[in-house]
Amino acid sequence: MVKTVLTDNFNRHLEYLRISVTDRCNLRCIYCVPKGIVPKVPHADIMRYEEIMRVINIGVAAGIRKVRVTGGEPLVRKGIGPFLKSLGKIDSLTDISLTTNGCLLENNVDMIKSAGIRRINVSIDTLDRDKFAYITGYDVFDKVWRGIMRAHAAGFSPIKLIVVALKGFNDQELVDMARLSLEYPFHIRFIEYMPIGNSRMHAGDSILAPEIRKQVETLGKLVPLEKKQMDGPAERFRFEGAPGEVGFIRPISRHFCATCNRLRLTADGHIRPCLLSDRQVDVKGPMRAGCSDDVIAGIFRTAVEYKQNVHHCNEDTAFKVADQMSGIGG
Ligand code: SAM
Repeated sequence: MVKTVLTDNFNRHLEYLRISVTDRCNLRCIYCVPKGIVPKVPHADIMRYEEIMRVINIGVAAGIRKVRVTGGEPLVRKGIGPFLKSLGKIDSLTDISLTTNGCLLENNVDMIKSAGIRRINVSIDTLDRDKFAYITGYDVFDKVWRGIMRAHAAGFSPIKLIVVALKGFNDQELVDMARLSLEYPFHIRFIEYMPIGNSRMHAGDSILAPEIRKQVETLGKLVPLEKKQMDGPAERFRFEGAPGEVGFIRPISRHFCATCNRLRLTADGHIRPCLLSDRQVDVKGPMRAGCSDDVIAGIFRTAVEYKQNVHHCNEDTAFKVADQMSGIGG
């Protein structure tokens, strides 16, 4: 492997930047942005699009090749269409993807497609309309489902459906979620809940992947899939003959730090080496003080220096990340 600016002390090449374009969200998921207990980043502290683009361009010159736009809810931010379009014009980016809660997907599918994005993740923790309203605070399941169907009809591939598995909430539904992969070419991704920021959930509410898998396999045998280059950390499977996939993202029960290739740009302008560590480097402050591109490249290098070998979040329920997921960018 070629050692570049973005190769860390553990020889991981960090070529993937996840960007939270806003901490604002139009849902209030009780494990992510629960009503009333999540402080908002003041508007003036949110990175402007031109600032984000500058950081991306410097990152790309240093070796960033993949970008995911996330939040908060990226589709609520004004001007997201032109921003995605300008991302699509950066030749050296080999992959641009978007994570959304799907509420505004139906009417934005064409815009997202015309920006050159083909891979989207949609968060959907339940297929039950009432439970959806309970977990998100809004009765918008039907709207989200229509958005998913519209993206499917428009040829987005893969469409990953992200399910946070939570005890006492969707534990009776994991099989139904996995069953979707038998009907549609969707990639169902079960993720273990992580104790991040103010939340109405607790570390002990996470259902760990072995338990999810045990339940899901009551539907049929899961056949392991070979790892592909664009794969994230998910352990991927398919039911025999299914058009879709089932995957497990296991930040708690099996750390995937050894293969982590990510950096994050937070909504308030920090480069963050690890989701599960609050150590990050301010890039917005120096930029607004008029620093050069070289200084920003140096900030990337510092963030890479800070990247730890492994994170320290495990089944020990005492661990907690202070910052909010919405600002970091999930
Ligand atoms: N608004 C978009 C959405 O809902 O997909 C993007 C932002 S959201 C923070 C990104 C992903 O993080 C979602 O799939 C959400 O379910 C997940 N997420 C949020 N908080 C989490 C937590 N504490 N543990 C695990 N996943 C979490």
